[in-house]
Amino acid sequence: MSEILKTEAIVLTKINYSDSSKIVTLFSEKLGKVTLIVKGGRNKNSKTGIIVDPMNIINVVIYNKSGRDVQLLSSADLVSLFSNIRSDYNKLKYGFAILELINGQYLHEEPNPRLYLGIKKIFERLNSFEEEPQIVFLRFFLFFLKELGFDISVATCPLCNSDLPGNKFYGFVYSRGIICSNCAEKGNGLELSTELFDLYNCLKFKKTVNFNKLTIDLIQSQLIRFLQHHSIGFNELKSLNG
Ligand SMILES: [Zn+2]
Repeated sequence: MSEILKTEAIVLTKINYSDSSKIVTLFSEKLGKVTLIVKGGRNKNSKTGIIVDPMNIINVVIYNKSGRDVQLLSSADLVSLFSNIRSDYNKLKYGFAILELINGQYLHEEPNPRLYLGIKKIFERLNSFEEEPQIVFLRFFLFFLKELGFDISVATCPLCNSDLPGNKFYGFVYSRGIICSNCAEKGNGLELSTELFDLYNCLKFKKTVNFNKLTIDLIQSQLIRFLQHHSIGFNELKSLNG
């Protein structure tokens, strides 16, 4: 059985395959994460081969045939190429980190329109000049952790269920996230200042964040370590090195 499928998607990766083709991984609106072959994609005159580039949003036509390992991407049209991201090294670095984060996690091959919309919106935000690229990246990181089922709550302590807001200080455990002062005093986890707690709160609820490189970097390394605890095989985000 074969069918023609159409969906919008963001390109995560593109690699050469054989002398003439390319293999691409997309996160699509209607099919979730898919890997496809672009026949003739290495040809310099292949429009599809050029359009299907990491970070681009595209409309694709997929020729789906049962029994085939990798399905065929038969054509693509460009929706957005995020030119402001591509011309700014700092934006580009965090843009690739977002793609790496998505591509590095196991995602079911099934539609997840909310996640797709979240990804698309975060790239639109990164492409605008509303906010520091690193802040945009951390907002996405927290949203993505929630989508993966590893939410870091700023409402209740995961160990005792008491309310988190209003504590004099907090703790952070890599297996559970932010904990209350009572649980932290019992020797659980690292101490987390109210400043950092407020920052988590702002990042999660899209409130304005005062950019302080030191605290922002601290949250970033905390989130990476948190994901390392929850995701087998996840080590680092290479895009952020160097
Ligand atoms: Zn607690």
